[in-house]
Amino acid sequence: MTKTITVLGSTGSIGRQTLEVARELGVRVAAIAANTSVDLVEKQVIEYMPRLVVMYDENAAAELRSRIKDISTEVQSGMDGLLAAAMLPEADTVVTAMVGMIGLRPTLAAIECGKRIALANKETLVCAGELVMSAAKQHNAEIIPVDSEHSAIFQCLQGCRDRAEVKRLILTCSGGPFFGLSHAELEEKTRKDALRHPNWSMGAKITIDSATLMNKGLEVIEAMHLYALPVTRVDAVIHRQSIIHSLVEFTDGAMLAQLGTPSMKLPIRYALTYPNRAPSPDAPLDLLSCGDLTFAAPDEKAFPCLAIARACAAQGGTSCAIMNGANEAAVGLFLQERIGFNDIARLVSRALDTVAPARLTALEDVLEADARARASVLSYFA
Ligand code: MG
Repeated sequence: MTKTITVLGSTGSIGRQTLEVARELGVRVAAIAANTSVDLVEKQVIEYMPRLVVMYDENAAAELRSRIKDISTEVQSGMDGLLAAAMLPEADTVVTAMVGMIGLRPTLAAIECGKRIALANKETLVCAGELVMSAAKQHNAEIIPVDSEHSAIFQCLQGCRDRAEVKRLILTCSGGPFFGLSHAELEEKTRKDALRHPNWSMGAKITIDSATLMNKGLEVIEAMHLYALPVTRVDAVIHRQSIIHSLVEFTDGAMLAQLGTPSMKLPIRYALTYPNRAPSPDAPLDLLSCGDLTFAAPDEKAFPCLAIARACAAQGGTSCAIMNGANEAAVGLFLQERIGFNDIARLVSRALDTVAPARLTALEDVLEADARARASVLSYFA
């Protein structure tokens, strides 16, 4: 079990909940890293007394330094700071909860130190799955997923010694706020509509990705890498209640599922206590009051992002990095209310048509594909 953690992305939804779980479990916090939220980081430093705190933004770092000058915690900034936090010797586990490509280099650095990765940064596996999984193998670093779906699958696979016994993984998907709407109806949807998620309270980027189903597409790609299965053996099913967090179907027809209330605390706690479990202060799922559990096939016509992600996963190379970079840029434009909801998928498709995928052999390939994809999306407005 984890004794000391570093939390990269401590002010986001997962980061804040990770610190709460650390407090509940009595896990020490060696380092925290955030971007600009000085007020919250200052509070976190005072409560958790990490040895190192990183503000990615230089000005935020200077501001924090002056506010906590009476505390022994060291303040660093920029990518160098993130890498120092990721490699800090006293942490045995690094929780990677940063949003976006920025999380990739620190995650690889922590892997190279042989640390347990409690993985909550999607881009890590989506864009650089091959690199990350082979580095983890080489450096004996455990990768324990924090995302609820991958944690569910990870839990269902405990005791499965032969991956050939797995017929397929089934990721559940809430369907987001626009479930049941047609492509034409989606055309009108605004930022405000899309940010209203039925079951999960999350950051803005992932909430939009849940509305387009790109989030499920990213998760299909992640599952393929995490569990070394071809994308054809990873399915997604709409399950509106978010009670079943995902399932594994085995070759003998057995299907295992993990159920729980829609809270990220459980997968976070499990990533820290694995292979053990620790008592939780939260109320468990009450089967008698959770109502009917329903399932439906995703509507890939209305929500093309899932099919786009599957195609990129099958193609390999830097396709997924191109798709991810284009999506991040497009979601940014949607959040700024500069494009419509359906334009997100259109811009991602357009980037995939204009940026040629390349072989993926090093981190630079990923970064270049990402930059070209973003430029392709932004050039639409030039
Ligand atoms: Mg998820």
